Amino acid sequence: MSSIFVIGSSNTDMVIRSEKLPAPGETILGGEFLMTAGGKGANQAVAAAKLGGKVTFACKVGDDIFGRQAVQGFKDVGVNTDFICADPVHPSGVALILVDVNGENSIAVAPGANGNLQPVDLETVIEQIKPGDIVLIQLEIPIQTVAYAIEQCHHKGARVILNPAPACVLDDAIFKYVHTITPNETEAELLTGIKVTGQQSAAAAAAILMTKGVKNVIITLGAKGAYHHDNLLNKIIPSPTVTAIDSTAAGDVFNGALAVALTENISPEDAVAFACKAAAISVTRMGAQASAPMRSEL
Ligand code: ADP
Repeated sequence: MSSIFVIGSSNTDMVIRSEKLPAPGETILGGEFLMTAGGKGANQAVAAAKLGGKVTFACKVGDDIFGRQAVQGFKDVGVNTDFICADPVHPSGVALILVDVNGENSIAVAPGANGNLQPVDLETVIEQIKPGDIVLIQLEIPIQTVAYAIEQCHHKGARVILNPAPACVLDDAIFKYVHTITPNETEAELLTGIKVTGQQSAAAAAAILMTKGVKNVIITLGAKGAYHHDNLLNKIIPSPTVTAIDSTAAGDVFNGALAVALTENISPEDAVAFACKAAAISVTRMGAQASAPMRSEL
């Protein structure tokens, strides 16, 4: 079986749920505190490992309690952590999230060590990559590191999946090294200028990305499922109908599951259907990494 290499961010999310959000200068007493592991890279690595993928995660954490706790969490689900660097200067990435009773939130993210993941930090992990392996990358680390990793991993013969999240304008030069790009509707619009609302607009956006050199385009469409576009198959693959409770990390679970399916050499259509099913399960329960399903649930 091919291996999955996830290159990306790790954060600790600290959430306080209270009656209302504090105004500038105001202190609100009461509410409850919750601390969870997050970061798109970490969420995708954990989702892939829970689904049975052979996963190595490369990221940078601080030399602190949050970083050590995150690494332990990855080990607990079987992720190889040999290539995670500890930054001696920058602290681990942290998100402070305030949520009120109506679900309205206010979030501040300090990327810390994630923002200092340099190309040189990835040299040894890239050496491990073999032809046919899957590499999964997002945009919560410096863009020059993303560009370096995509090009190098492509040259090693890996199939690079780029999840272009959070939405960010990209240099067209990297697209020719991307095997599969997986934007959601908002990210697809930012990358192509086309507002994606259904099959027709998704096809138009995908065609633009293919012109830039990407080989496969998968646009996730929330509850509607995902649109798949390559040289053979252009169609929406529906997501199972579920009662959604919390869509946090739905896209991350989708990408982790897609990576696993691609290592199992099933058809692209079946791979997208597998990813839709895993992501649909995740929206039926709370949390990011905690909501990702185990393989037995699929
Ligand atoms: P993101 O979380 O990146 O914004 P989407 O909202 O497009 O991405 O969701 C990713 C995937 O999660 C979808 O393609 C779909 O398979 C699944 N999904 C999301 N919301 C729902 C829902 N309400 N019901 C069923 N599946 C869902």
